[in-house]
Amino acid sequence: MSLLADVLAPAPAAPPPAVRGEDLHALVRRLYPICRSITGDGVRETLAILQEYLPELEVHEVPTGTPVLDWEVPREWNIRDAWIKNARGKRVVDFRRHNLHVVGYSVPVQGIFTLEALKKHLHTLPEQPQLIPYRTAYYAETWGFCLAHEQLEALNEPHYEVCIDSTLAPGALTYGELLLPGETDEEILISSHVCHPSLANDNLSGIAVAVFLARQLQERPRRYSYRFVFAPGTIGAITWLSRNAEAVARIRHGLVLSLLGEPGAFTYKKSRRGTADVDRAVALALREAAVPHRVVEFEPYGYDERQYCSPGFNLPVGGLSRTPYGQFPEYHTSADNLDFVQPEALLDSLLLAQSALSLLDANRRYQNLSPYGEPALGRRGLYHAVSGHPDAARAQLALLWVLNLSDGQHSLLDIAERASLPFAQVQHAAELLLAHDLLLPLPDPAP
Ligand code: ZN
Repeated sequence: MSLLADVLAPAPAAPPPAVRGEDLHALVRRLYPICRSITGDGVRETLAILQEYLPELEVHEVPTGTPVLDWEVPREWNIRDAWIKNARGKRVVDFRRHNLHVVGYSVPVQGIFTLEALKKHLHTLPEQPQLIPYRTAYYAETWGFCLAHEQLEALNEPHYEVCIDSTLAPGALTYGELLLPGETDEEILISSHVCHPSLANDNLSGIAVAVFLARQLQERPRRYSYRFVFAPGTIGAITWLSRNAEAVARIRHGLVLSLLGEPGAFTYKKSRRGTADVDRAVALALREAAVPHRVVEFEPYGYDERQYCSPGFNLPVGGLSRTPYGQFPEYHTSADNLDFVQPEALLDSLLLAQSALSLLDANRRYQNLSPYGEPALGRRGLYHAVSGHPDAARAQLALLWVLNLSDGQHSLLDIAERASLPFAQVQHAAELLLAHDLLLPLPDPAP
């Protein structure tokens, strides 16, 4: 390739995606039937499937009662069956038909209840009468069923037989973790919750995107090390944080992935810091992808960014989603199913996350080694006046911006933002200047 072609090349084009949206959807379909909760065999079964995709994924078991930050690992919950039967012995509500029918963490129960007494334990959505709601009672000793409001209205017998065949007993909290070492031991954290039962977008979409992100990162050179955490929401992230002080200290950037499977506009929720590199990198990746999106400020509610961004940690961890929690009618209902999650949306989410991460990985500071006046680019074959060629003009501008701002204070991300140039163009200019000994890569500043 000639030097001119080299200068003109806007940066290597992204290779065609080796992954298909259908591959992500297949993983979602595989995980969908499993009854997950914050502890129990559903999480183990889920992580065992993820290990088929990521054989290096480690599974950790933390015993019930273990103190974790201000919390304690709860008793482990498992469920085998649950039903409400009418007088003829017919299951009118059946856990085997849908695992959302049982309130998560329900204590075992067996007996005959009057309809009036039973109703205190039934949860419905009168506004969405055909949908089963998702309810949990992790930290209250109670039991309950969730059903379509239409089902509730059809209950007209005086008594019903009820059974929840569950156990709530000492056991463990289970989470999965994968570290992909890079050139530096500084880390990018990717975290996804794994505690929802049959809900496809809320939970499984984030898991699928994280799994395929890890598979792709495994195949390429990495400056940063990447740590993937698959843990139950809240208590899982708290457990991971409490056991990983050393890794926590190495986290330079992080993303919580959730709600990435439907075609709604992207939402990036900034870290608590608000101006962390990850906040700027994701915003830039979204702008450059020219996809509908919005960037919102941090708030201490949502997914596990709440824990990573608690003030004691204050990690630069943002949240990438599409339509946010609670803002789509399928949220936390049986309508968040396999039809709601779409292969193309999953794939686009993966590509977006990938481009934000590759931007972070390439982002660094350089020192201009010839800072007194502009270096003679023409002599080095780097300066070509190709009049009227907008790409050439932009490529040259990128060289000049990188040289001008590479004073050790500005990163490539700073330069792309300030020059309003595509990051890939700035990155390519830096690579050229580096190859011509005009730049020196600098270590990342201490956080
Ligand atoms: Zn949820």
